[in-house]
Amino acid sequence: MTTPRGYENLVQCPYNKVHQVENGRRFQTHLIRCRREYEKTHSTEKVYCPFNTTHLINELERGLHMETCPDRVAVDKFVAPIVDSSNSLYKNDSIKMFSTPSTADDWDAQPPTEAYNPEKYCEENNIIRKCNGMQPAQRKAFRQNEHLRLGNIREHQ
Ligand SMILES: [Zn+2]
Ligand SMILES: [Zn+2]
Repeated sequence: MTTPRGYENLVQCPYNKVHQVENGRRFQTHLIRCRREYEKTHSTEKVYCPFNTTHLINELERGLHMETCPDRVAVDKFVAPIVDSSNSLYKNDSIKMFSTPSTADDWDAQPPTEAYNPEKYCEENNIIRKCNGMQPAQRKAFRQNEHLRLGNIREHQ
């Protein structure tokens, strides 16, 4: 089956496989109309977008949404260990927290003889990756949590 010229960019409507609509604005309009019609006669299951929990989408549209979600870029970054500004941000904290070598000894399973290496530590514990892709508010909350967690560990030493 060959695709006619100018029709390479067709998207299949999630509500009716027979609907093949040109991608872009036209498809968006179609989707809204088709969804409305579909919801009149069917009950639809709603799911949250894995990239952004403020996106509530119909289960049927999930695959489509995941391909087009504007927040997908941030999560791609989350998967790939890209070093960004949050790296240096976290590093500063780590250096401050581990300035005394005696406390670093009890930190997780780090061998006591090994000098603390924030970069290696973060790499091993996925901390940089967790920071990536977060919104500034989330990042702040994450760092506050880390402070609390580290505070607890210190108290129990
Ligand atoms: Zn449709
Ligand atoms: Zn989304």
